[in-house]
Amino acid sequence: MDLLIEKIKTDGKLLPGNILKVGSFLNHMIDSDLMAKIGDEIARLYEGTGVTKVLTIEASGIAVALAAGMSMHVPMIFAKKHATSNISGDIYTAIVHSYTHGTDYHVAVEADLLNKDDTVLIVDDFLANGQAIKGLVKIVEMSGARLAGAAVCIEKGFQKGGDELRSMGIRVESLARIKSMSDTEIIFY
Ligand code: 5GP
Repeated sequence: MDLLIEKIKTDGKLLPGNILKVGSFLNHMIDSDLMAKIGDEIARLYEGTGVTKVLTIEASGIAVALAAGMSMHVPMIFAKKHATSNISGDIYTAIVHSYTHGTDYHVAVEADLLNKDDTVLIVDDFLANGQAIKGLVKIVEMSGARLAGAAVCIEKGFQKGGDELRSMGIRVESLARIKSMSDTEIIFY
């Protein structure tokens, strides 16, 4: 998506540890017009796949997942993060290792929000090593719903997540796919 790539080039900031900061337009302050277009693009890519719900993880996935859900006219669910597995009630949970924080956390979705009649599209802001999306895939599997695929704004193609998910047979669409990053330069595919 050229508009997103241009925005990353002009406003993205490179941090040590292969982290791209996009907090001025994507996941802290959000460029509403850009986000609406991102939602429309995700809806276009998954048109005709029968998506009934969009699923993400709080917090940084929520805006993009909501934009996609609004464009597709389906509900958006965000999995909630918990530090421990000590969660009560009828829920689906999975463990996720955080790339940016270097810690493990649990994600949870109330069981009555997803069921076998649903077709789910997983959405997130970034795809790096794929831990976040794999956790959500597990939740979809537990619910018995069908997985349409995943859509991310930015895929760091030099990390293994995208390849691993695709080799599991999961459709993965990224709107901006980064080939390599240094302290000074981002190269897109
Ligand atoms: P993964 O689970 O694929 O390794 O990492 C995805 C999650 O880590 C995303 O939900 C995102 O919040 C965070 N993340 C990974 N890489 C970056 C990055 O370069 N910049 C930012 N801002 N977040 C990232």
